[in-house]
Amino acid sequence: MVERLGPPLEEPIFGELAIIGVGLIGSSLARAVRKRHAARRVVLADHSPETLARAEVLKLGDVATKDIAKAVETADCVVLSAPVGANEKIARVMAPALKPGAIVTDVGSVKVAVIAAVAPQLPPHVHLIPAHPVAGTEQSGPDAGFAGLFVNRWCILTPPAGADDRAIQRVRALWEAVGSNVETMSAEHHDLVLAITSHVPHLIAYNIVGTAADLEEVTQSEVIKFSAGGFRDFTRIAASDPIMWRDVFLYNKDAVLEMLGRFNEDLTALQRMIRREDGDGLFALFTRTRAIRLGIVAQGQETTAPDFGRPRVNGNGQS
Ligand code: NAP
Repeated sequence: MVERLGPPLEEPIFGELAIIGVGLIGSSLARAVRKRHAARRVVLADHSPETLARAEVLKLGDVATKDIAKAVETADCVVLSAPVGANEKIARVMAPALKPGAIVTDVGSVKVAVIAAVAPQLPPHVHLIPAHPVAGTEQSGPDAGFAGLFVNRWCILTPPAGADDRAIQRVRALWEAVGSNVETMSAEHHDLVLAITSHVPHLIAYNIVGTAADLEEVTQSEVIKFSAGGFRDFTRIAASDPIMWRDVFLYNKDAVLEMLGRFNEDLTALQRMIRREDGDGLFALFTRTRAIRLGIVAQGQETTAPDFGRPRVNGNGQS
């Protein structure tokens, strides 16, 4: 599926946009913002000199610096796109340099804990409008990003009560400019929804791949050889960035544990159906779950192509 961005905007949304953390999400945003001319100037900051060097080679921004305070001092909007656990420190470092009226937003997969960590660091003269683009891949780093990542994907805004309406509209305009559909909800509700749609599925993938790796009766080479039976799709998710996902589980602990509790109850019910040879029960559940998949395809969030639309892969792993 080719994801296309629209033509450059006639009038940019921001004069200067600073992106802190130039990995998969930060670099994709930088690429898309530049393509759509959503900001006149894009300033990039990251703690890794290698990442900054790649950002320069890839021409992801106008400036790339290690100095976070310097990166934000003339920014109209700052996007925090490092792993969730790094945000508090980044916010503390940049806070004194932020100009009055600046907007601070983020891309974190968790919202309640991020707001709790970032909001107290910020001066009263800036607007915090948290956001979460529900788009990504299992890869990380600046080379993994691409401009079309957010096209036709949802971006959820979780503005705190009383947030400045004009600031919310500008962050909405930014995400719409890079192709997202934008929805607003409370941070608490976001964390619950994402726990079941993203965080628990990742945990299940990490768990099943870990279990398969530890099996003694089935060899590693058999697991790899016969992976097309379903396991392969879990391995894609379980290859996701370990730092990012460690932080997601540490910072969305309550919602994940609540959803895991429900998942365990349903798994026990499923176990019982198998033990009792309850074919009707299994058939009814699998029919219901298939309808959910069809709904996702109907909403354009997935393709109908079989095998997740992957091209055939030859013996060398090349397509
Ligand atoms: P990533 O590819 O690993 O990029 C994160 C970047 O931030 C890396 O370049 C990292 O540098 C840098 N960084 C880490 N700590 C920093 C610090 N203290 N100061 C400055 N830079 C720092 O991760 P990502 O996938 O883009 O994820 C970034 C954020 O997006 C996370 O909050 C995540 O929850 C959110 N998100 C991710 C996805 C997804 O599918 N990946 C989807 C939606 C939202 P080093 O690598 O050198 O440490």
